[in-house]
Amino acid sequence: MGRIVQKFGGTSVGSVERIQNVAKRIIHEVDAGNEVVVVVSAMGKTTDELVKLATEISGNPSKREMDMLLTTGEQITIALLTMALHQEGYKAQSLTGWQAGIQTEDAFSNARILDIDSKRISDLLKDGHIVVVAGFQGLIPETKDIATLGRGGSDTTAVALAAALKADRCDIYTDVTGVYTTDPRVVNSARKLPSISYDEMLEMANLGAGVLHPRAVEFAKNYNITLEVRSSMSEERGTLVEEEVSMEQNLMVRGLAFEGNITKITVSSVPNEIHALAELFTILASNGINVDIIIQNVLNEEKTNISFSIESNSLSATQEVLAAHQAQLGFESISYEQGLAKVSIVGSGMISNPGVAAKMFKALSDQEIMIKMVSTSEIKVSTVVKQEDMIKSIETLHDVFELDARVPVQNT
Ligand code: ADP
Ligand code: ASP
Ligand code: MG
Repeated sequence: MGRIVQKFGGTSVGSVERIQNVAKRIIHEVDAGNEVVVVVSAMGKTTDELVKLATEISGNPSKREMDMLLTTGEQITIALLTMALHQEGYKAQSLTGWQAGIQTEDAFSNARILDIDSKRISDLLKDGHIVVVAGFQGLIPETKDIATLGRGGSDTTAVALAAALKADRCDIYTDVTGVYTTDPRVVNSARKLPSISYDEMLEMANLGAGVLHPRAVEFAKNYNITLEVRSSMSEERGTLVEEEVSMEQNLMVRGLAFEGNITKITVSSVPNEIHALAELFTILASNGINVDIIIQNVLNEEKTNISFSIESNSLSATQEVLAAHQAQLGFESISYEQGLAKVSIVGSGMISNPGVAAKMFKALSDQEIMIKMVSTSEIKVSTVVKQEDMIKSIETLHDVFELDARVPVQNT
């Protein structure tokens, strides 16, 4: 007998029929003799609709109330799915995040899970129940407030529970059949990967591949939990996210990730002093502004320009913070460029292959695509391009790195 955590995303539980379909998939595992813990998201686009409702009331809603609101979505699904399991004659109980013992840090909207007291779940499992847990939420122990884990955070609930319960498997059911070389909804020739390493998946997720929440991958890596990402609508085997990639070792590039809505800020003529960078980025960080790629362009001995990229929706906050500290930082002016996107290639084989970045830049320049910023790590190269060039960049790179050219996955 095994212990399994199954997670079903929003589309997979988007209607009564789909909830009934999910119940059947759970029952399949239970009938095979497994203990099953299920984590679910809010139905369909419920979370987006709740966000919209809040913004109709307030341009700047309280983060506490926002989390109170958004966690209701998952609460609907756990109750309905549990009823569907009862309907099929199975013992099941739903638990909110706090009932499931999920404790988070004291932060709203993007809280990390710090600990899980899994006794209640273990007792229910021992008693023969299927346990259905609300994803994306936990409790701040000090204040007893409800916090959410960030958009897409139900994946993290599932993997964290799998770690706490020492589960044998963690299956992430979604609306695509696995992790692809890039988003299959954007690039038709995207190819499903049989497996991907934790490090590559973590880069992909952090660089915009929404198929898994980055913290879920972190948990999986830290606790060595193999994940299978697969479809709730088909029997096709999915993609294994694991330590060692079992096939296709040493690929130079395993996948592409991308995200739009990026703005580049340039702070001009900053005094070229030892503390300049530290001071600027400390001020931005302490005001909660997330900075991504940074470029320093020294003009002369006295002055330097500093550019950095941010999410476009933090533009006005960034401008306000910089303006408020202009005298302290001593820069001359700020300029910005909106409508940018980040396109990244990811692959652990890059470490030992010089020339991957060069090949990427050449491919983009052959298409007359202007690269505005670059950042690299051992296993990725990211470029910032105009948003209007994003799709063309992805398609070009997908071709150039021959990501669709390998043997298709054999379904089992
Ligand atoms: P869920 O609600 O099940 O959590 P998500 O919408 O969060 O589903 O994630 C699945 C979506 O991720 C897919 O529909 C797909 O558009 C997107 N996606 C982005 N990059 C990839 C990728 N590399 N492979 C597969 N799906 C991807
Ligand atoms: N319902 C939440 C969201 O839409 C959490 C999740 O689906 O993982 O972001
Ligand atoms: Mg998701």
